[in-house]
Amino acid sequence: MDYGIKTWGNDNFFIEDGKVKVNTGCEPSLIEIIQEIRKDGIRGPILLRFPHLIQKQIRMIYKSFADAKKEFGYEGNFSAVYPLKVNQFPNFVKNLVTLGQKYHYGLEAGSKAELILAMAYNNPDAPITVNGFKDNEMISLGFIAAEMGHNITLTIEGLNELESIISIAKDRFGCVPNIGLRIRLHSSGIGIWAKSGGINSKFGLTSTELLEAVNMLRDANLLEKFTMIHFHIGSQITDIAPLKKALREAGNIYAELCRMGATHLRAINLGGGLAVEYSQHKTTLHKNYTLSEYANDVVYLLKDIATQKGVHEPDIFIESGRFVAAHHAVLIAPVLELFSQEYTDQKLRPKEINPPLVQELYDLLGTMNRKNALEFLHDSIDHMESLLTLFDLGYIDLQDRSNTEILVNLIIKKAVGLVADKKLSEILDIQDRVQERYLVNFSLFQSLPDFWGIGQTFPVMPLDRLDEVPTRSASLWDITCDSDGEIGFNTETPLFLHDVDIKNRDYFLGFFLVGAYQEVLGMKHNLFTHPTEATIIIDDDGYAIENILESQSISDILEDLDYDIKEVQENLNDRIEASDIISEKEKKHILGEIYLFLNDNGYLKTINNEDNSQ
Ligand code: PLP
Repeated sequence: MDYGIKTWGNDNFFIEDGKVKVNTGCEPSLIEIIQEIRKDGIRGPILLRFPHLIQKQIRMIYKSFADAKKEFGYEGNFSAVYPLKVNQFPNFVKNLVTLGQKYHYGLEAGSKAELILAMAYNNPDAPITVNGFKDNEMISLGFIAAEMGHNITLTIEGLNELESIISIAKDRFGCVPNIGLRIRLHSSGIGIWAKSGGINSKFGLTSTELLEAVNMLRDANLLEKFTMIHFHIGSQITDIAPLKKALREAGNIYAELCRMGATHLRAINLGGGLAVEYSQHKTTLHKNYTLSEYANDVVYLLKDIATQKGVHEPDIFIESGRFVAAHHAVLIAPVLELFSQEYTDQKLRPKEINPPLVQELYDLLGTMNRKNALEFLHDSIDHMESLLTLFDLGYIDLQDRSNTEILVNLIIKKAVGLVADKKLSEILDIQDRVQERYLVNFSLFQSLPDFWGIGQTFPVMPLDRLDEVPTRSASLWDITCDSDGEIGFNTETPLFLHDVDIKNRDYFLGFFLVGAYQEVLGMKHNLFTHPTEATIIIDDDGYAIENILESQSISDILEDLDYDIKEVQENLNDRIEASDIISEKEKKHILGEIYLFLNDNGYLKTINNEDNSQ
């Protein structure tokens, strides 16, 4: 069982000695990294960032386009910008900017806050593109960036923005940003993120508006600032066909605008869309193309159109961020509990005379073997349903009911162990009925919001025991008080985990490919905040754990919600002081405890067993 690591893993991780290891330098295992971090008392979910995986993705993009340009003798330049919306966290962005320096890798901003970040951190000589709806203030910010010397292109989403640019240009200091026009294609993308393209999309200028925009620019003597057309048919474009269709349409619009006298128009910006393979199962692959196929198609198609229409080959811009960011982050979360862990034979309390069906369960457990395992399993589940009905009708007592639950769970475990090596298809149905629920110390709303919001799945696997066959069909429960916080077992994409006794041994799950969108879309449901994070730098001699940033304390979370933390503290203090249930000494002790709680984060720490804090 390799959890599809070869399908989604991009060669970034591999399994050896039963552990997931990082495929670079000294090849540390993820579990040793986590244990090292936990030595300092850090508990709860931890997000690991691997800068070498950011570097790898950036390098691959530039190399693929350089190869494609060479193969087709393409004369236009290639540039890329990273869209900040995908992940704005400083320990990601600052690494990305440094690693992208030698390529002049730029930044894309879609809001004032992102533009400020781009202006503060972008590499000198690297481009900035600005998309999204803009007011006068945001456009003025774009002018300030140009005045600071940034190579910035403001992409216009509507003619009113162009009017603002023309008017602001008159009032400022003569330095005008480059202007891009976002075109509204009739081609659209596919999949859950495809709403950004198509004739009814939220963004872009129609053909009529494009013609009007060119006239407005000409009248304002700003035509030479019009350098780029832009389109974006959606994120995670899993099929190459719609992208090729969109490129043909955009390429022809580019050529027509050049022929109409847009003399400084030089670039086509394809937006984002490069897909990431999130699937753990070969039968449900998400994307149907490789990066080099994408680069070849883009270069070939644009060359073809430029040749046919007799215009110069455009510079190519891309804004794919998911592809760059997704791989770099892995969320590691401890399993706190297996729900059936409570069901041990020590807890059985047989009566002198058990009800017949309970006695039957004892017999099934005692006589079960490999041959009859599935049949006995079915029988036991039927018996359990009958026994629960008998309880509802008052014919058996709570002791009988408890014995029933324990016996059925013991039968399930024994049966699953006996048939573990049978063909998956034969036991999938039964696995579906006898799922184990793993309580995992993380918030799905905070760390995998796309799973909650749009059903996007992410690869998940244990970090060790990978040389043992996992026998339990798993559904994962997070620690929020919300039944939506669950990744249920799915027979199409089944997840099997190990039958572990958490009281004796840690068991960690890794959620992979969580570096794009998840961190900033994450919600503070139940006031669980961004998990503790650490950056891992690996070379041949070892690895370093840098920039550990602990998850926010409860005081900070409450302050973020605009609670006056002094008032919260005073209220607590007053109420403790006023209590007549406890002594003065006990009050002092409790005040100290409250202080510690307020300064700690809200994730779970110790469950049942002091030695095994999570
Ligand atoms: N550029 C624009 C204009 C976008 O709207 C988006 C995201 O939707 C992107 C780039 C990033 O695309 P991706 O998610 O494929 O990286």
